[in-house]
Amino acid sequence: MASILLACVLAYVLREVISSTIIYPWLALVLFFSFARAVLIFAYARSDTNESTTNSGWLKKYRFLIFIVGAIWGSAGILLFPADYPQHQLFLIFMLAGLTAGGIIAFSADLVCAITFACLIIVPVMLRLFVIGDGILISMGVAILLYFGFMLASTWHINRNIRENITLHVEAAAREEAVRSSEERYRLLLNHSPVGIFHYDTQYIITFCNKRFADLLENSVENIAGVNLKSLKDQLAFPALERALLGEIGHYEGRYNATYSDANIWISLICAPSLDTFENVVGGIAIVQDISERKKAEYIIENLAFYDSLTQLPNRQLLLDRLKLALATSARSGKDGALLFLDLDNFKILNDSHGHDAGDSLLRQVAARLTTCLHGDDTVARLGGDEFVVLIEDLSNQDTTAATQAEIVGERILASLKQPYQLGEKEYQSTASIGVVIFKGHDQSLEELLKHADIAMYQAKKAGRNTLRFFDPQMQEAVNSRVDIEHELRKALENQQFQLFYQIQVDRHNRILGAETLIRWLHPERGFMSPAEFIPLAEETGLILPIGQWVIETACEQLKTWQKNAKTRDLTLSVNVSAKQFHQAAFVTQLTETIKRHAINPLQLKLELTESFLLENIEETIATMSALNDVGIQFSLDDFGTGYSCLQYLKRLPLVQLKIDQSFVRDLVVDSSDRAIVRTIIAMAKSLELNVIAEGVETKEQLELLLNKGCEHFQGYLFSPPISISELNELLEVD
Ligand code: C2E
Ligand code: CA
Ligand code: CA
Repeated sequence: MASILLACVLAYVLREVISSTIIYPWLALVLFFSFARAVLIFAYARSDTNESTTNSGWLKKYRFLIFIVGAIWGSAGILLFPADYPQHQLFLIFMLAGLTAGGIIAFSADLVCAITFACLIIVPVMLRLFVIGDGILISMGVAILLYFGFMLASTWHINRNIRENITLHVEAAAREEAVRSSEERYRLLLNHSPVGIFHYDTQYIITFCNKRFADLLENSVENIAGVNLKSLKDQLAFPALERALLGEIGHYEGRYNATYSDANIWISLICAPSLDTFENVVGGIAIVQDISERKKAEYIIENLAFYDSLTQLPNRQLLLDRLKLALATSARSGKDGALLFLDLDNFKILNDSHGHDAGDSLLRQVAARLTTCLHGDDTVARLGGDEFVVLIEDLSNQDTTAATQAEIVGERILASLKQPYQLGEKEYQSTASIGVVIFKGHDQSLEELLKHADIAMYQAKKAGRNTLRFFDPQMQEAVNSRVDIEHELRKALENQQFQLFYQIQVDRHNRILGAETLIRWLHPERGFMSPAEFIPLAEETGLILPIGQWVIETACEQLKTWQKNAKTRDLTLSVNVSAKQFHQAAFVTQLTETIKRHAINPLQLKLELTESFLLENIEETIATMSALNDVGIQFSLDDFGTGYSCLQYLKRLPLVQLKIDQSFVRDLVVDSSDRAIVRTIIAMAKSLELNVIAEGVETKEQLELLLNKGCEHFQGYLFSPPISISELNELLEVD
């Protein structure tokens, strides 16, 4: 634009002194090429190629046009030089010098352009000035030369600044672009990441979370941002988040219960500290994955590996695991365990005749019944086919007692499996055979135990099925005799095989106060049997109820007889009562009725209860005792010191007597700690205003010590063993 305007002004000023045949073609050339240059610039601006090869092409074309325009302007210094018009000459020189200065600045970004353009314009006019040789004009030429040299030097500086500027600009733009695109990539990564990500600050406030994290919590990004992690109801993952703020890596894997939605998922969370440029922790970054599916798969895999798919019972593998644990536990506790190997009788026939669906259905029902027959701690497993194994732990430490306990469970199972099954429309009857092996600690290997139980099971089959056999013949013998005794015990009452024995109780002056009644069973073959042998069995089978009632009846009858004689009128009888007997609903009415029927003084009847069963149901026990106490019946606490009596309860029980257990009396003379216990029991009894009686007193020394400690009443072989009523009458000197 400047070039065109200047050319027009120059042509206008010189039109009077220069021939129009020169000036107009010259102007036309300037206009044309200036215009061409404008077109070129315009075309370049519109092209969007950025490659350096094409760029250098553009530059070449541009330089070419610059050279042409420069040359045309330069020609003006000679062609348009008005030889005879000094004013016009000055104007021309002024124009060319100005143009040179302008050009050098305008093109200083490209040194080649700037220098060539300037040279092309200024050199011809300078030569012309030197050629004319006029003094002032030569000085002018020299001035222009100096001026030109100075401009070239400046151009070089300007060029360097411009280049630096451009480079800086380009670099800054590139950097900005790089940051922008990396930010964009990070944003994409965060939002399309398959894992949940959130940032939190040192105050545990969530500052950012991605979409996936919001989705995991069934919530929105907007709702989650700003939440304080400390205020969430589920704090299980909190320690991991805390670690990140301490500059460590935190992990959490487990269930997570969302606070603001119903999301309840398994998560795996890893968090790392977020650092500023000075490596200070400014927050944490947590990556959260939903591992619910994995957990589900793990659960299914575990189920497949350890459970039978038909019955959902543990399989052989899990049984072996549990058995191994059971052996270790038994070794530690000294308690026995039992393994019951169970095989359904005639299962093959059912499968063949009714089909496999019926067989499966039976197996499932058997599994369900087995489960209900057992306690929660016991294991029932299916080995395969119609074979099941039951593992019972925590039995007695006495082998024969443990065998009895296992037998009771086995009988319960046999009875349950004998009940009819519903197979589709049909009712079906089935039985099982059970082999039992008792184990203690690591005496036998797992496989050996299973094998023995299996062998015992075959013996049960041989014995006619629907029955149970022990692997160990001795245990079988013990169980058999128990079964026999149970059988005979049922008939003992009607066959009048029981007798009541009496053991006298005396005071400090050896006066007989009364007696404890102790039952005896006169077995037709076994002779006199101690209650210790049959009372537990009677309790287990419930036979204790009629037996206990018989004892009370007999004792009341005896008291009634004693009432008639002045010598025996004031004697008391202490009767042992079992837990089962005491806790039966009708006990109070039954006992009251018996006392009334015999018209005896209830104060002469004392019931002996043991500590252990008082604790079973303390409130109910107190109520029953109080009801009987109201009638006039008194209570003595038997075997005192062997149980876990809580003093608080002792105070609330309507007792009249504590009976020091014979185990303390036995070693009284030799064992100082027993002496201390006895002293404490007596002191306690005194403070509770209870009477104290010592049982099992066998020697004078024991009696002496007990007397010294303030014991009031005594019972034991020293005075008399338990004796029959006729012997007692003799002792009391009555007939
Ligand atoms: P218990 O109530 O502790 O009875 C005391 C036991 O110690 C009796 O054994 C008795 O014979 C024995 N004994 C007495 N004095 C001495 C002594 O000086 N030295 C030693 N070493 N022992 C002595 P028994 O008669 O064999 O009775 C055992 C347990 O059977 C009784 O223990 C009681 O718990 C229970 N029992 C006895 N009769 C009945 C009853 O009619 N009903 C109920 N439910 N249980 C009964
Ligand atoms: Ca007793
Ligand atoms: Ca006792």
